[in-house]
Amino acid sequence: MKILVINSGSSSLKFQVIDMDTETMLAKGNCEKIGAEDSFVKYSVPNKGEIKNPVFMKDHTDATKVALDCLTKGDLAILGSISEIDAIGNRIVQGGDYFKQACIVDDDVIERIEGYYSIAPLHAIANAAAIRACRKIVPNIPQTVVFDTAFHQTMPEYAFRYGLPTEYYEKYKIRKYGFHGTSHKYVSHRAAEYLGKPIEELKLVICHLGNGSSLSAVKYGKCIDTSMGLTPLEGPMMGTRCGSIDPAAVAVIIDKEHLTGAQMNDIMNKKSGMLAISGVSADFRDVNDAWDNDRNPRAKLALDMFGYQCKKLLGGYIAAMNGVDAVVFTAGVGENRPETRARICADMDYLGIKIDLEKNDVMGKDVEITAEGSKVRVLVLATNEELEIARETVELVKNLK
Ligand code: ADP
Repeated sequence: MKILVINSGSSSLKFQVIDMDTETMLAKGNCEKIGAEDSFVKYSVPNKGEIKNPVFMKDHTDATKVALDCLTKGDLAILGSISEIDAIGNRIVQGGDYFKQACIVDDDVIERIEGYYSIAPLHAIANAAAIRACRKIVPNIPQTVVFDTAFHQTMPEYAFRYGLPTEYYEKYKIRKYGFHGTSHKYVSHRAAEYLGKPIEELKLVICHLGNGSSLSAVKYGKCIDTSMGLTPLEGPMMGTRCGSIDPAAVAVIIDKEHLTGAQMNDIMNKKSGMLAISGVSADFRDVNDAWDNDRNPRAKLALDMFGYQCKKLLGGYIAAMNGVDAVVFTAGVGENRPETRARICADMDYLGIKIDLEKNDVMGKDVEITAEGSKVRVLVLATNEELEIARETVELVKNLK
């Protein structure tokens, strides 16, 4: 089976084709700056080559056409015809409390996703637009939706509710949803496989640390808490997001600077975090270089803050589960930044966590970095959200045939 995985953002559409007989990626690409005059597509086929072409895409329908053309036309085509695709799996950011698992797309599903506009304005419309575009262009190929929020739907109410007036929960569904769920699910299962134990017997803390970061407590295969909230802003400070702060600070800043809610949201999502504190960059590589090479104190503060905030969440989740068998690092920073892992795991021997700094000195490889005598095992495992989406898609569509 060949599965096309689509991950659409407000101005981008990432795509990937995976051969599920061997679970190998055949090609991937990204349509960027959709809607802008200088929109372009990047496309690559492993061991064959890559291209970056300017092409005007006014909306997600145009972008979908461009993606399908990349796969079927030119020197880097991997398909004779688009009908060789068995199904399309869409990554959906917000599934609310209705979607507890992935499902096949129908009219009702699309309308429900669009209905999440009020709590996910950037993603609801873009996600639905890509689904509608595929339905128009390739109506015969079945589509599925795999939600970032679904894995976290097992959280108990005392973990997902906020201490706000109940009417806001009842009227607007203001609560913690959590994100990166596809990654947390994939990595939890990878960890169980790596440890050679059934997931139903394990207590895990998954640290998905990238440009956006979230931690989750996975007890016996079920998520019982996670750090992102109603939106991906909650949790540790991130590349450009402020993370958890005193909510009253928002009201004070809005008042003093005469901002609208939307402007404040923009500041908290795009102008805060590592970028704001370091004054250098949102990228951990640059911030680390600024400390290592230039002894920039703001860069050090940003790194210290990130490590400290993650450490507190990790400790909290160990308390919430009454123990932990393994801590797992994943995503861009988790997989590639030994110094960040070391900062988070430092001085946690009271909780049974000790890492081996030599073993930790690796990037981009699945390894165990546990020190001798550590009660808790510490792993670095690559995430693969696209593969998880493709696997769930296969499970859903195989019953259609
Ligand atoms: P996103 O949340 O956008 O998916 P990623 O998971 O790709 O982000 O993480 C981006 C961060 O990971 C950057 O801050 C970068 O410093 C770090 N990173 C990603 N890849 C590497 C790498 N190969 N080497 C070092 N750092 C990396």
